[in-house]
Amino acid sequence: MEKITISVPVESYTYAELTPQQSELVEMARQYTSNSYAPYSHFRVGAAIRLDNGVIVCGANQENVAYPSGTCAERSACFAAGAQYPGVAFRAIAIASVGTDGQVPNTPTAPCGACRQALLEYETLAGANVEVLLAGRDKVYVLPSVKSLLPLAFSEF
Ligand SMILES: [Zn+2]
Repeated sequence: MEKITISVPVESYTYAELTPQQSELVEMARQYTSNSYAPYSHFRVGAAIRLDNGVIVCGANQENVAYPSGTCAERSACFAAGAQYPGVAFRAIAIASVGTDGQVPNTPTAPCGACRQALLEYETLAGANVEVLLAGRDKVYVLPSVKSLLPLAFSEF
């Protein structure tokens, strides 16, 4: 038996420490929380993806009375980007949320497993790391890649 330990690189920044490009992307994600349709969870999430052509494509969670028919902000954004700009590589994604209490959670919100898998495929297509920015109330977690979010990912494609 061999024990394997997998570590994930996460850097925690204050908002003032972000680069202008990072700040812009986080702000777009925060703005899109207000485009969320979340009558069931009351948890509003926004996502913003910067593409290699400089365009930023945003998304917000869209729920449905038939629960599995809805989708998360991250997949909302990445599928919109794939549909509008096929073949254009992703460079970064920012994710922001507003909790059920109407406040930005102190702990940055991370994508669900399904979104991690979806984002990983776009990162693989891009052939380069997609920076991940997870926005919380006072801090932003910065990860160098989607792979960082999904160790031991399914990658048989
Ligand atoms: Zn998700």
